[in-house]
Amino acid sequence: MASAATTETEKQGVPKLSARGIVKSFDGREALHGLDFDIMDGEFVSILGPSGCGKSTTLRILIGLERPDSGRVLLDGKDITDLAPSQRHMGIVFQDYALFENMTAIENVEYALRFDPEKRDNRMSIARDALSRLGMEEFADKPVTGLSGGQMQRVSIARTLALNPQVILFDEPTSGLDADARLSFRSLVKDIQSQSGTTILLITHDQEEALSLSDRVMVMGEGRIHQMDDPQTIVRDPADEYVRDFVTKNIQAKYDSLARFAQNGQ
Ligand code: ADP
Ligand code: MG
Repeated sequence: MASAATTETEKQGVPKLSARGIVKSFDGREALHGLDFDIMDGEFVSILGPSGCGKSTTLRILIGLERPDSGRVLLDGKDITDLAPSQRHMGIVFQDYALFENMTAIENVEYALRFDPEKRDNRMSIARDALSRLGMEEFADKPVTGLSGGQMQRVSIARTLALNPQVILFDEPTSGLDADARLSFRSLVKDIQSQSGTTILLITHDQEEALSLSDRVMVMGEGRIHQMDDPQTIVRDPADEYVRDFVTKNIQAKYDSLARFAQNGQ
């Protein structure tokens, strides 16, 4: 009894990362109502949705910082629900970068490598390589407190890349950045994907970012997935009123901010 989704999956092989019936409650309130999705190897997927709809909780469950009440997480078809975060071959870049402020850029990257037995011995050269891959070599020995938001983000990404994850999760990486740094994040993340073929899952509430970067977009609302499709289908053929309203509202907000800029900016 193969569904259309299974047939599609079989054609492309085993998914890289899957959620099966993920349910999670906090204080008796269900925050995730049973999430099911597959992300293919090398795919770029964005999660788009308003604040509080369960995006970060989903990421934290995938990487193992949070346990689901029920449901399973699979990596390459293997059940990893009970594995520690460090055993999952995944990396996460947090919204607030989560750097050690009393350390330099390279010390931050190097510190993460101490816990990896295979990389521990060469950690300084791996850390330096990772920073230079992100154009941050000249800042390697600077304390991170002196860096801009965009630079701190690069250090944080370098720290994740240095561990060679098979999947990278980004939690709202651009919400604290200015317009220039947002655009440079877009090209950076595209470069990472094309150079290493890493599977990427990115949370954003910026529709333009989701639509322009992703192979597929997952639109979430109140702990459910309303639609998971390629960007064109999301815009042209929204699955329900919620997705339609969300897409329209975002386009309206963009228009309003452009109109304000045209009035005040020149
Ligand atoms: P998003 O990232 O989409 O803004 P979250 O996943 O952070 O949403 O949160 C989803 C819901 O779960 C919200 O109602 C939030 O208040 C609740 N929640 C998340 N983490 C916790 C927690 N540790 N304790 C209690 N409630 C939480
Ligand atoms: Mg969040």
